[in-house]
Amino acid sequence: MPVPFNETAREYSSLRDELEEAALRTMRSGWYVHGQEHAAFERELAEAVGVPHAVGVANGTDALELALRAVGAGPGSEVVTAGNAGGYAAAAARTIGAQPVIADIEPDTLLLDPASAAAACSTRTSAVVVTHLYGRAADVAALRAALPDGVPIVEDCAQSIGAWTTGGRCGSLGEAGTFSFYPTKNLGALGDGGAVTTSSDEVDQRLRALRQYGWTQRYVVGLAGGRNSRLDELQAAVLRVKLPHVAAWNARRREILVEYARAAEGTALRLLPPAAGDVGHLAVGRHPRRDELAQRLDDEGVATAVHYPVPDHRQVALGARVGPTGAGVVEQACADVISLPCFPLLTDAEVEAVCAAVRRAG
Ligand SMILES: *Cc1c(COP(=O)(O)O)cnc(C)c1O
Repeated sequence: MPVPFNETAREYSSLRDELEEAALRTMRSGWYVHGQEHAAFERELAEAVGVPHAVGVANGTDALELALRAVGAGPGSEVVTAGNAGGYAAAAARTIGAQPVIADIEPDTLLLDPASAAAACSTRTSAVVVTHLYGRAADVAALRAALPDGVPIVEDCAQSIGAWTTGGRCGSLGEAGTFSFYPTKNLGALGDGGAVTTSSDEVDQRLRALRQYGWTQRYVVGLAGGRNSRLDELQAAVLRVKLPHVAAWNARRREILVEYARAAEGTALRLLPPAAGDVGHLAVGRHPRRDELAQRLDDEGVATAVHYPVPDHRQVALGARVGPTGAGVVEQACADVISLPCFPLLTDAEVEAVCAAVRRAG
């Protein structure tokens, strides 16, 4: 049985009537940017994350860029981030004129190593970005404790809406949390979308200005570095339909991860079941002969992918510098990670087909 890596049309089909009703309602309203749907989505997202403020923006990359600016990063400063998370944070830092500095990751979770991040901080550090990668909730309290006092933390929650630690939900733990609603994310729009969450009134005010030309009032450019990055009304209406389903979808993703972890036992594939606060986004395991495994699974009809093959500091165009601890675990992870199909509308038969292929090929 062929198993696709993802199939976003299934999510659409499962909510078709509600989504079409929301889209029609929005089109007929005559209000297409920053209207009632957008305002309601911002409130509903803030409530879901457990913060007073959520600010809609155009995509997850803009969310990172605007969040970094809003917490004080900019030209001449440095932004510390893990080197295995797809380069999004490093690219956002670069775009605002900051120098990305790469820290190492922990070997079990593949999340930012607090000690390595702390070692990478200097007097020029304006922010640390911690990515809750693969839906895994990073320990932000431990990171905070390790960092020098006063260094703002931006959480990249693009893969982790709904994840939590004992300190609260991801997106409520740092100075700002950034979200992407790209169609394959755990909350996906029918196009691009993003948001930033924050508990700070001041960061919220800056974000609202930065996403709309730097306006502090209509037609008054009161804040430098602003641009146009809006979440449109149609996407907001779609996201409002989907948000109430995220918890059940996340539970299904966790279930799939548990099945895969069980299937991987006794094979060379090391794939961990989700920890308590994880939501499951990508099903990522590590295998000493990753490319061979990918080929064998492909021969069995199971699509796989690699998240991510190139460490940030080896992306020439990002110009990232490696911090003092090096990034040895990042290098290993980029060479041996492999992602199996993981989306909530996989059928039981498809999940079993992946498990059987893993047992044979792993
Ligand atoms: C998808 C993703 C982004 C970028 O989001 P876009 O909406 O595609 O710009 C940033 N960070 C992480 C971890 C992501 O997975």
